[in-house]
Amino acid sequence: MIKVVKFGGSSLASAKQFQKVGEIIRSDPERRYVVPSAPGKRHMHDTKVTDMLYECYALAEEGKNFSGQLKQIRLRFEEIITGLEMSLSLEQEFQEIAEQFQKKAGRDYAASRGEYLNSIIMAQYLQYTFIDAAEVVRFDEEGAFLSEETDKMLRQRLEETEHAVIPGFYGATAQGCVRTFSRGGSDITGSIVARAVHADVYENWTDVSGFLIADPRIIERPEGIETITYRELRELSYMGATVLHEDAIFPVRKEGIPINIRNTNAPEDRGTWIVESTCQKSRYTITGIAGKRGFCSINIEKDMMNSEVGFGRKVLQVFEENGISFEHMPSGIDTLTVFVHLDEFIDKEQKVVAGLHRLTRPDSIDIESDLALIAVVGRGMRSTRGTAGRIFSALAHANVNVKMIDQGSSELNIIIGVSDNDFEAAIKAIYDIFVISQL
Ligand code: ASP
Repeated sequence: MIKVVKFGGSSLASAKQFQKVGEIIRSDPERRYVVPSAPGKRHMHDTKVTDMLYECYALAEEGKNFSGQLKQIRLRFEEIITGLEMSLSLEQEFQEIAEQFQKKAGRDYAASRGEYLNSIIMAQYLQYTFIDAAEVVRFDEEGAFLSEETDKMLRQRLEETEHAVIPGFYGATAQGCVRTFSRGGSDITGSIVARAVHADVYENWTDVSGFLIADPRIIERPEGIETITYRELRELSYMGATVLHEDAIFPVRKEGIPINIRNTNAPEDRGTWIVESTCQKSRYTITGIAGKRGFCSINIEKDMMNSEVGFGRKVLQVFEENGISFEHMPSGIDTLTVFVHLDEFIDKEQKVVAGLHRLTRPDSIDIESDLALIAVVGRGMRSTRGTAGRIFSALAHANVNVKMIDQGSSELNIIIGVSDNDFEAAIKAIYDIFVISQL
């Protein structure tokens, strides 16, 4: 078995965290390839090293003195090295970084140094080989990730390396110019390493024991999700449940490699398994609930709309021309409603209304804001009768007015539109009926 393990910033924020990580890796010889993030926050008011690097480089770019800031960053790493009682000097690395900042080597180069330095420390700490991601993760000149080239290079290199530490978050162009993924991108590096070595599992270690059935800011101590499919995860992350970078799914999914989200501070927890498909039933009918506020609906009415060929296309054309993507489009006999993000829509509102009048000649257009969407997701819903009935009776008991219902034909999720004010009450009611009352 080969396991690829990625550790997030909070798992590597201090020497104490490094020790926990060391124990986790040493406790299982199958954990052969390690992908570290940069040191994250040690406490709530702390700053991530990546943010410190961005700030420091901004000074360099403006031609200002950045040595004070760079020293603070160096102290973060030195605190880790001394805490681990290691004899490692980063003198040369920091000299090089200062020179490159002076030469304005780029924001991506600057940001990537957090992962670079942390991986040098980790490699020495574990006695694993350090492989610079700039040599094995390829981007094109425009900054787009080149998956197939990377896969080949990484595979070749790792075939001959028994144990390695590969920094997350960045790679480089063929000319050696450093490029990064978007924020949180070490998750992606972990996934591409797992794909390259045909890992049996990609373990993603963070500071929570996996995904929770609902948002802990709304539900007190919600239950965790044991197993979730990629498709369910996509539905939930789209609605705001974030633990993993979205782009981290594709490389491993292609190879059928499961992801196991684990907690560095509670390694005994099983965490969440993310899999392609499973015959394992989830403990409850639903796998998870997630939601987002800040939507608005544009309701278009027109007599005989249903027999007018091309009506829907014309409506969507107006949104497209204004560069607004739509979320949902439930329809009645003579009505059609388009749900959009309020902040995407608000500045273009009157242009959209005018466009709709011009193209579709409706009888009326009615706009409602302050709406929230809630996704109730679960592969178990397909085989269970009465799920929708239970959701809506729970909402009625909680005095929540349902403004929109949308069930995809996959029967994997039911989306419910409610007023912003009812958002939390609705999530609580759904959680209660499916989880609390089943306990
Ligand atoms: N260090 C980077 C960030 O803070 C990447 C990562 O941690 O995944 O976004």
